[in-house]
Amino acid sequence: MTNDSEERSAVPPANNRDVGNRLPRTAPVLVLGGGIGGLATALALARQGIASRVLERRAEFEPEGAGIQLGPNGTRILAELGVAEKLEPLAGKPDTLHARDAVSGATLARMPLGRWIAERHGAPYWVAHRSDLHGALLARVRAEPLISLELDFEARRIDDAGGTVTVHDVQGRGESGTALIAADGIRSRTREDQFDGGPMRYAGKSAARAVIPASDMPAEIAENATQIWLSPRAHVVHYPVRGGREVAIVFVRRDPLPSDDWSTEVSQGFVTDTARTFAEPLRRLLDRPGLWRKWALYELPPLATWAKGRIALLGDAAHPTLPFLAQGGVLALEDAVVVAASLAARPQDPASALSAYSAARLDRATRVVAEARRNGRIYHLDGVMAMARNATMKLTPPALLMSRYDWVYGWRAS
Ligand SMILES: Cc1cc2nc3c(=O)[nH]c(=O)nc-3n(C[C@H](O)[C@H](O)[C@H](O)COP(=O)(O)OP(=O)(O)OC[C@H]3O[C@@H](n4cnc5c(N)ncnc54)[C@H](O)[C@@H]3O)c2cc1C
Repeated sequence: MTNDSEERSAVPPANNRDVGNRLPRTAPVLVLGGGIGGLATALALARQGIASRVLERRAEFEPEGAGIQLGPNGTRILAELGVAEKLEPLAGKPDTLHARDAVSGATLARMPLGRWIAERHGAPYWVAHRSDLHGALLARVRAEPLISLELDFEARRIDDAGGTVTVHDVQGRGESGTALIAADGIRSRTREDQFDGGPMRYAGKSAARAVIPASDMPAEIAENATQIWLSPRAHVVHYPVRGGREVAIVFVRRDPLPSDDWSTEVSQGFVTDTARTFAEPLRRLLDRPGLWRKWALYELPPLATWAKGRIALLGDAAHPTLPFLAQGGVLALEDAVVVAASLAARPQDPASALSAYSAARLDRATRVVAEARRNGRIYHLDGVMAMARNATMKLTPPALLMSRYDWVYGWRAS
């Protein structure tokens, strides 16, 4: 934290483009937001020898969320950042991705995960409780001397003075750095203030999420798998977390009533009314949670660039995605290693480094976002189209179905 006079002296004249080169070598990169993307960015910067200061509005991190799937493109990065070893004992490691018809209960496909996907992509597919992932990132961040973390810092205004960026918080404090990477989520204030983004658009669906003890899992459907159940009205995904002791469940349905945050409590009826026609063991599973929280699903219009001077967007702030490819958090991890490498490659010119980062990431993120939207349509197909989908899934060799996602999971930083 800096006081006002320190802040003024740290801000060089706006018209001196070289002045950034004369900043103390220790001037940090500012990272706004201590979520998955922000913490991963700080760790990726540290790996490149770059100091950072993470500014997070929450006063403390409370356990939140339910499950997150981490494809090999995500676990590879977690290993590079020294996070995988902390998460490993808590991660679920499913053998298969089991797709079923939610109404009949019939198997549509059992696609290989486990050893198959680990050998194919050189890193495993894991599933985890979001708090365990966040906790593992945070533990690494707290142990890293090149990272400092400022909690209870809610950014309100950003000044890019050409050589330095200063972030002011709602209490009037200011923090300055050589560049600002804004990982402040889908409701990013940075995006709203600094970029010409359009308004959020409600996707018309909400995801209800719950976690239950593994012992509550109906025996007929208990297996070491990520299971996805498809129906026109809703789909359900569940998988083991917390080292197999708990099961995370996501239930996605049309919803006329969007909520504003990601933890609005909803009644059991929100789920069970829609699931009335579902196969019996699935209905029993959906009856188990005592508490469901919903997250309304939103999209934002794509931006032409995520970089402006010494400011760049990252993660959901740059490219929020619907969760139907399970890649939102993983994309933020990919962004993190790319932006860190770009800043390391151009230490004298943060603005061009951020611009190169944006250029390197835009096509990839756009493709993933589009594929997730397409998956959502496929999951909720009805009538003859659903029959065609089911037939295709049943007839296609499972490994071939899975290999369609090689472009997602096989991603590497360079
Ligand atoms: C139902 C559902 C299921 C999902 N499942 C998966 C999955 O299986 N796999 C996957 O990879 N992704 C998944 N995602 C997506 C994933 O959760 C997000 O993409 C990911 O959390 C984005 O990380 P982020 O760091 O960009 O943003 P966030 O996690 O939203 O973090 C933003 C941070 O910025 C802070 N902040 C916000 N404003 C300010 C401010 N003004 N000042 C200071 N700090 C601020 C917030 O407090 C927060 O800590 C899912 C999403 C949903 C909705």
